[in-house]
Amino acid sequence: MVDLLSQHKKLEQPIRAAIQRVIDSSSFIKGEEVAIFEKNLSETLEVGYVIGCANGTDALQVALMALNLMPGDEVIIPAFTYVATAEVIALLGLQPVMVDADENTFNISLSGIAGAITSRTRAIIPVHLFGQCADMEPLMRLAEEHHLLVIEDNAQSLGASYTFADGHSRKAGTIGHIGCTSFFPTKNLGCMGDGGAVMTNDPLLAGKIRMIASHGQRKKYYHEVVGCNSRLDTIQAAILNVKLPHLSEYLEARKNAAAFYTNSLKDFQHGILPGAFPSSPPTWNQYTLIINNGLRDTIKEYLIQNGIPSMIYYPLPLYKQVAFSKFAPAGFSLPVTEKLCKSVLSLPIHTEMTTSNLEYISETILNFKK
Ligand SMILES: *Cc1c(COP(=O)(O)O)cnc(C)c1O
Repeated sequence: MVDLLSQHKKLEQPIRAAIQRVIDSSSFIKGEEVAIFEKNLSETLEVGYVIGCANGTDALQVALMALNLMPGDEVIIPAFTYVATAEVIALLGLQPVMVDADENTFNISLSGIAGAITSRTRAIIPVHLFGQCADMEPLMRLAEEHHLLVIEDNAQSLGASYTFADGHSRKAGTIGHIGCTSFFPTKNLGCMGDGGAVMTNDPLLAGKIRMIASHGQRKKYYHEVVGCNSRLDTIQAAILNVKLPHLSEYLEARKNAAAFYTNSLKDFQHGILPGAFPSSPPTWNQYTLIINNGLRDTIKEYLIQNGIPSMIYYPLPLYKQVAFSKFAPAGFSLPVTEKLCKSVLSLPIHTEMTTSNLEYISETILNFKK
C-alpha cells in the first residue's frame, strides 16, 4: 500500500544529519527544531499559528479542549471516518452526532449537517477524507448562521487547497476556526513515528491550545487549566523540516499516480472511480473505488491472489462500532455511509508508485471476471 523506504532513501543523508544534530544538542523535548517546523509549516499553509503536538488524535483533543464546551454538548461529525474523530469527543464527555457522507466525495454531507443541528450543537468537525477537502464554503456559512465552531480534521489532506466562489483559495486546515493534522508515516507528510499539529489564525485560540498541550501552563509550574502533555518530538520535527520542502513533490507524485489509475481504469465495468472536484482537487492520500453489485470482497480477494494489496477504509460506520453505538439511537442508519462501507476499496497509492506498478495493478483490475 505504501513504500516509505524508497521515499526516505532519497533523503537519507539530510535526515540522518538532522537526527544527528538533535542528538548532538541533546535538546530532545521542545528543541529548536520544533519551533522551526511550526514556523515553516505556518508559512507553507499561510496560517497564523501552528502548534506541534504528539499525534493527530491529540491535535483533535487539544483543539476541542480549547473550545470551552460543556458535558453533553453536541459535536457533528461524519459517520464515515477514522475512529479518532469520534473518540476525542467521547473522551471529553461530549456527544458525537454522526451524519451521512456525500456519495461523490466521501466527505460529510451538507444536508446531513443541516438536519443534525440542535440547540445543543456547538461544533462541527468536517474530515477532509482521502486527500480531499470537505465542501467548506457552504459548511462555514451554515456554521456561522448557527454560531458553531469548526475544527477541520485534516489528518489525510495536508497540502490540499479549497477555492471559494469568489476565486480565492485557502489551504485545508486553515479555513475553520481550528485545523488539525497528523504526521503519521502514511499521511501526505509523514514523519518517522508519531506527530501532529494544530493550526489556527486566532491568536487567542493559539495561545490557549499551546497552554493546554503543555499541562495547562503558560509559565512553567503555574497551571491555569487542566491540560495534557502532547508534544511534537524534536527528532520528528527535525525530520519534518527535511521533508516539508518536498511536500509539493509528494502531492504531485500522488496526483500522477491517481491520474494514471483514472485513465487506465476508465473502462472498469464493476465500479466507480473517484472524481476530482474543481473547487478542491484531491491530494490523493487514498485512491478509493466504489465497487458495484456486492463484488468488493471478491475483487479484494482476487487482488490478493495477484499479489496486490488493497484496503477497506472503512468497513463499519462509526455508529455500528461496539464502542460508539451508544452514541446513536437504536436502529440508527445512514444510507450513503452504509453503502460506502460495503463497497469502498482503496488501491495502493503513494509517492513512489512506478509506471510498472500502476500498469500491473490496472491491468489486473481490468482483467477481473465475475
Ligand atoms: C490518521 C487520522 C487521525 C489521527 O492521526 P494519528 O496521528 O494517527 O493520531 C485522525 N483523523 C483521521 C481522519 C485520520 O486519518
